[in-house]
Amino acid sequence: MGMNDTILVVDDEELNRDLCVRRLERKGFAIKAAESGHEALAVLEDESFGLVLLDHMMPGLSGLEVLKRLRARWSQQELPIIMVTAIADSASIAEALDLGANDYVTKPIDFSVAIARIRSQLSRRHVEMALRRSEERYALAARGSNDGLWDWNLESGEIYFSPRWKEMLGLKDGEVAGNRAAWIALIHENDRAIFEKALQAHLSGATAAFECEYRIRRGDGASRWMSTRGLVVRDSQGKALRMAGSQSDVTDKITRDALTELPNRILFQDRLLAAIHRVEEGAATGFAVLFLDLDRFKLINDSMGHATGDRLLREVARRLRAALRDRSLSGRAAGDSLVARLGGDEFAILLEDLVEPAAAKAVCERITQSMRPAFQWGEDEIYCSASIGIVYSSSAKAPEEILRDADAAMYAAKSAGGDRCAFFEPFMHDLSRRRLQMESDLRRAIEGKEFRVYYQPRVLLETGAICGFEALVRWEHPARGLILPGDFIPVAEETGLIVPIGLWVLREACRQMHAWHLRFPRRPPLDVAVNLSVRQCREKNLVGQIAAILEETQLPPPCLHLELTESVLLEDMEEARGFLAELKSLGVGLKLDDFGTGYSCLRYLSALPFDSLKIDRSFIGNMPTRGADAAETTIVNTIVDMADNLKLGVIAEGIEREDQITRLLAMGCKYGQGFYFSQPVDAKKSEELLQQNRSTCCSPASQAAMVALP
Ligand code: C2E
Ligand code: MG
Ligand code: MG
Repeated sequence: MGMNDTILVVDDEELNRDLCVRRLERKGFAIKAAESGHEALAVLEDESFGLVLLDHMMPGLSGLEVLKRLRARWSQQELPIIMVTAIADSASIAEALDLGANDYVTKPIDFSVAIARIRSQLSRRHVEMALRRSEERYALAARGSNDGLWDWNLESGEIYFSPRWKEMLGLKDGEVAGNRAAWIALIHENDRAIFEKALQAHLSGATAAFECEYRIRRGDGASRWMSTRGLVVRDSQGKALRMAGSQSDVTDKITRDALTELPNRILFQDRLLAAIHRVEEGAATGFAVLFLDLDRFKLINDSMGHATGDRLLREVARRLRAALRDRSLSGRAAGDSLVARLGGDEFAILLEDLVEPAAAKAVCERITQSMRPAFQWGEDEIYCSASIGIVYSSSAKAPEEILRDADAAMYAAKSAGGDRCAFFEPFMHDLSRRRLQMESDLRRAIEGKEFRVYYQPRVLLETGAICGFEALVRWEHPARGLILPGDFIPVAEETGLIVPIGLWVLREACRQMHAWHLRFPRRPPLDVAVNLSVRQCREKNLVGQIAAILEETQLPPPCLHLELTESVLLEDMEEARGFLAELKSLGVGLKLDDFGTGYSCLRYLSALPFDSLKIDRSFIGNMPTRGADAAETTIVNTIVDMADNLKLGVIAEGIEREDQITRLLAMGCKYGQGFYFSQPVDAKKSEELLQQNRSTCCSPASQAAMVALP
């Protein structure tokens, strides 16, 4: 089997050598001769032999010396050596055997004996090599009993594929030729280059093993993922002789999402491509791709922990499968479907054989409905709706393009409030492109110091006296002008960029307030409120960083108020309590912002170290001008009463009209903020407000004069 059995005869005496060569050739052996030890070594350097017949007595390099050098490189199995010695010289025979000669013959040579010994050595070598090969094969096979095996003779180009190897690819014996071209032809055309590259890398010695994953399109049309591993076997000169290895089917591992056990993006794209082909060939009418993203998943994951997040995703997967199985609503309008998890909280659904877009919409509605009931585990009850983007296609487009369009549509559905679906429209591209642009712009803005802090005064409602300011970040975009936080904070939170931005706002606000303390000394001193987002609160060293900023800016801690929203409380209550206590221990004030919009239970508040509540501006804005029986009025009244009972301060946000002040005062609410007093303004305008507000007691008339529009 391609093994070289040529015999090298080494003898310095011409007569002996020729005789030997002729006799052996007559017996069918391939022979080469060398007339000295040096020549023998040189010949062996260039060619491989099956056996060496080595004369003991030679001038120059002796037979024993040559033997020693050969054994330093080749084992007895790799290169058998038979010594030719004088009959009487038993001492050197013993020495030769000691040095690793396989056998010996004596002079004058009895050829029938010599040939028997040569044959025996050659066949032993054959067996040994075959055994070694099968051991390698066995070792490779042992890696996975389900693996297919291959063994490639690099000299002859012949490849042995085991029956299991062929079966894995859906091939019968004889259906694949045993060579490289046949192998490559089975590989998905997009993966051939990877295969060749990995192969070359290993053959050239650049990699320790040949390893490669590629797709095979089976006879039945389905594509499978194969992982192949192999090792090259080299001869003593380092020449690659053989390569053997195994093949395993990793389709499930590669195409399945471990968390939900749904197909993943790879499989989805594969199926989508097949669906596109079917439409192209006219074998199918149309298909739809739904791109689903959970609303508020990030908040849930961040605040309730990853274990809960994972659980939610598994449950969503279950509901999706169930919603797609249930055909009762769509009837025959929808054909085959595939649901996959693309990553994070993103899922994709492929609906095939659709007659019309309306069928896709019906499925979407069923899905959004199935997300509405609470997700419940023990005590926990979570609501998590979904936004879905739809692409209906009866024309050919690349899978990535379709997914990108569906993503853009999903984003539009989410921007419209979530818990809904939207068909893709070309204008939606701009939306998602804008969002990506925003992220890179934000990174640049941090370096370019494009953020500004604006300040909105908080006043004593009764007198209009300024008690402090809320710091509100603005972004001075070089091209787009002043951008309000609502337009960039969500992206900053999603990307974590809020952490550096938030710290910068905190430092700047503290520095500014300390400067105002020196310029506008008051009793009690002015305070500054800074907003913290949940994402910032998750940073391990936040408390330490705030302490350092207070130290650095020399602002007395009680003059810094931190505004947190109820979403920090969604977290494990004990953890939130601990975190708030830590913040409180800095000596700063804590305010619960946007109160009334979240979920927090009033009774929890008494256990938490908040100093005051800020009533969300939606309640203040919706209080009717006249009459006290509107729901909003009652809510505000209730919040004020409750805060009073809990000994919490109350601040009304978003005051825009005088009648709101009258009403709030009547309810017992002491503090307020709003455009009526001032919009958020930059530091310079804030100083002007402070100048005008020197007298702590203002009449309603001068309050009106205070309204400063930026
Ligand atoms: P917020 O903390 O509830 O801030 C009050 C928001 O209400 C501000 O919007 C303010 O301009 C607006 N506002 C005040 N008075 C009135 C009024 O009379 N009528 C109306 N319609 N609106 C009023 P802004 O500055 O756009 O900030 C929006 C939100 O962005 C803030 O809500 C806060 O949650 C967040 N934010 C602002 N700056 C920062 C910051 O530095 N860090 C973090 N994490 N969030 C910030
Ligand atoms: Mg605030
Ligand atoms: Mg607020």
